[in-house]
Amino acid sequence: MIGRFAPTPSGYLHPGNLLCAMLAYLSVRAQGGRFSLRIEDLDKARCPRHLVTQAIQDLEFLGITWDFPILYQSERQEIYQAAFDLLRTRAEIYPCFCSRADLHASLAPNRGDTVFLYPGTCRHLGEAEIAERRKGKRPAYRIHVPDTTVAFHDRIVGPFSASLADTSGDFILMRADGVFAYNLAVVVDDALTGVTEVVRGNDILTSTPCQIYLQDLLGYERPEYAHIPLLVDEHGERLAKRNQVISLAGLLKLHTREEIIGALAYACGLLPENRPATLEALIPLFRWSAIANSDFHLPAGFLPAASSM
Ligand code: GLU
Repeated sequence: MIGRFAPTPSGYLHPGNLLCAMLAYLSVRAQGGRFSLRIEDLDKARCPRHLVTQAIQDLEFLGITWDFPILYQSERQEIYQAAFDLLRTRAEIYPCFCSRADLHASLAPNRGDTVFLYPGTCRHLGEAEIAERRKGKRPAYRIHVPDTTVAFHDRIVGPFSASLADTSGDFILMRADGVFAYNLAVVVDDALTGVTEVVRGNDILTSTPCQIYLQDLLGYERPEYAHIPLLVDEHGERLAKRNQVISLAGLLKLHTREEIIGALAYACGLLPENRPATLEALIPLFRWSAIANSDFHLPAGFLPAASSM
């Protein structure tokens, strides 16, 4: 099996990202599989070099190792273009001239984002109309989704199904500035790198049906999915609410590496008590059945007091 961690370093990795990386990694090592790191810097302007470097260093510091060269999405435009061209022969893909709000809809979702259901405005434009509009604006490209329900089994969530028409509508494959959308890139990369297990935050759960739809069109195998719950503080409060950027460097002012790993393993149910641990020592303990399917509560005292931030 092959697993992966695929961060978008548009900020420092936060405790939720670190835990996601840990679980993706532990699952791979516990199954004797191989691990891959992919930097999702499709939108290069949002992922400055120093944040990419820092993310890689943070993962190395935790003890995560990978078995393939690191993949950078910003270097894979031709590969996405080939998949896009193939999709055009297998589905209806149409130019969309709607506003910049759609740029938002082309990125990986974050919890709390408003779900943007595209009403199909540009779906029925005629050739002449398209030619006319092209003079004033470069279009984005959307895929026309059928009114079908996509169902899959998630290692944590269990059975999940959603209708494409109700969760995404016709979704973006390429932005007007030529950047390929998250959903297309992630599907292509996972398939071409042989990924068989996808572990990521459950803020992405509702994008998974779009991705499965693309996999089916492209003739790709479907990986196993594990969408992990949100990490919250000891009061159940979202971390972003009390503290925008608690980076690994910030945590290391308060705790050792082993204390951080142990607290995260405790928060997700892998350790029965909050005690220091190394990743290596957690490998034999890892099993998906231990991972809770409800918000992961960090132990008291793990985060800096809100007032000190
Ligand atoms: N790059 C996405 C993020 O950081 C995750 C994508 C994925 O794991 O499929 O939110």
